[in-house]
Amino acid sequence: MTATHKPTIVVVGCGFAGYSLVRELRRRHGRAHHIVAFDKQPGLYNYPALPRLLYEELAATDIEIPYQRLFAGLDVDFHQARITAIDTAAQLACTDSSTFAFDYLVVATGSRARPLPQDDGVFVYYPKAMRHLDRLRTYLQTPPAKQQRNLAVIGGGLTGIEFALAMRDAIDPASGRGAAPATRIHLFEQGERLVPRQRHALGRALHLELESAGVEVHLLSEVSRAMRNGLLVRGEALAMDCTVCCIGVQPHLRQGIDGLETGNDGLVVDDALRLGGTGRLFAVGDVMTMRGRKSVSVELHMAQRAMEQGRHTARNIGRLLLGGEAQDYAPTERPVSVLSHAGRGVLAYRDFCIRGRLAGRLKRWLDLKHV
Ligand SMILES: Cc1cc2nc3c(=O)[nH]c(=O)nc-3n(C[C@H](O)[C@H](O)[C@H](O)COP(=O)(O)OP(=O)(O)OC[C@H]3O[C@@H](n4cnc5c(N)ncnc54)[C@H](O)[C@@H]3O)c2cc1C
Repeated sequence: MTATHKPTIVVVGCGFAGYSLVRELRRRHGRAHHIVAFDKQPGLYNYPALPRLLYEELAATDIEIPYQRLFAGLDVDFHQARITAIDTAAQLACTDSSTFAFDYLVVATGSRARPLPQDDGVFVYYPKAMRHLDRLRTYLQTPPAKQQRNLAVIGGGLTGIEFALAMRDAIDPASGRGAAPATRIHLFEQGERLVPRQRHALGRALHLELESAGVEVHLLSEVSRAMRNGLLVRGEALAMDCTVCCIGVQPHLRQGIDGLETGNDGLVVDDALRLGGTGRLFAVGDVMTMRGRKSVSVELHMAQRAMEQGRHTARNIGRLLLGGEAQDYAPTERPVSVLSHAGRGVLAYRDFCIRGRLAGRLKRWLDLKHV
C-alpha cells in the first residue's frame, strides 16, 4: 500500500446493517477510506414502521428512505445495483455489467420471509412485500361479505404479534375482549409461549395486550400448510379467510452470489463476524448466522442488532487498517419496544416491562428515528 492509497471498502446491501457501517466508518475515520456501496433498491426499507401502514398514512420517505438523502455529505460512491458475484481470491465484487476491486468487503444483504408450504392458488400474505401489504390493507378495509370472518397470523414472534394487533386496529380499533367483533383474529404459535427468544416478562406482557385487543392466541399450534379454505394446524383443518405468515426469515441470497456459500440460516461468520477466515470479508445483519460458533441466546434478527453489528464491523476494519486485530462481537442486552393496539405499546428491558400509551408513543417515535 502506498502512502496515498486509500483502502477501498465495498458494502453489499445498505439496509440497517450496511448503512450503519458506512456511517460509523465516516464518523470514526473521516475520509480515510474509499467507500463503494451497493443496494438494488433506491432507498432503505424501514421495516419496523410497516405494521402501521395497515391503519395509518405514512409519508413514502418514512417507509423507503432514499439513499440519496441518507448518504448526502458522507462521500460514498453509491450504486443502485445488485451484486451478483464476489471473487474472494481476486478481491472483486461484480454486478451484471461492472467489476469493482476491494480491500475489505462487507455482505449485508438482509433476509426474506420464510415461506409456508401451500396449495396451488392460495394467497398467503408476507409482510415484507409492499404489494402484499397494500393488498392486505385493502382487504381489511373492505366490508366483509359474510357475517363472521376468521383471519390468521402465523408466528408468535415480534413481527406476527405486531401484525395481529395492527390488523385489529385496521378493522375495529374499539373492539376488544367481550365486544364480539365480526372479525376474529387468530395468532398461531408453535411454541409453548410467545416470543420464545425474548425474556418471559415481554412474552407475558404481549400476551395480555393481545387478549385485551381480542386477538385469540393459540400456543403449541404448529401450522404446517396453507390450504384452499384455511390452515392445517397440528394435522387438523381450520377454516380461515385470510392468512398472514410471519414464521421468520432466511438469508437474502435468493439468486445466490457466486463465490459465497450459505446454509439455511445464512452466511456463517466467526466471532468477529468474519467470513471464510480471510480477514477481509465480513457479514452483518440478517444475512449471517453466528450459530456455527457459539450459542447466541438473544434474537439477532432485529434492526437494532443489525446496526450494532454494522458499527462493530466498522470499528474492526478501522483496527485492521491500523495494524490491530479484529475484536469479537458480543450482542448486548437492549430494550425491546413493540407497538400494540389503540396507541398502546410495550417496552421491555431485562425483566422490567411497561405497557401502555407512553410505551406506544416511544415506539412510534423510534420507528421513524432508527436511521
Ligand atoms: C415487518 C417487519 C417489522 C419489523 N419490526 C422490527 C422492529 O420493530 N424492531 C426491530 O429492531 N427490527 C424489526 N424488524 C427486523 C429488521 O427490519 C431487520 O432485522 C433488519 O432490517 C435487518 O437489517 P439488514 O441490514 O440485515 O437487512 P435489510 O434491512 O433487509 O437490508 C438488506 C439490504 O440489502 C439489499 N440487497 C439484498 N441483496 C442484494 C444484492 N445482491 N446486491 C445489492 N443489494 C442487495 C436489499 O435491497 C436491502 O436494502 C422487522 C422486520 C419486518 C419484516
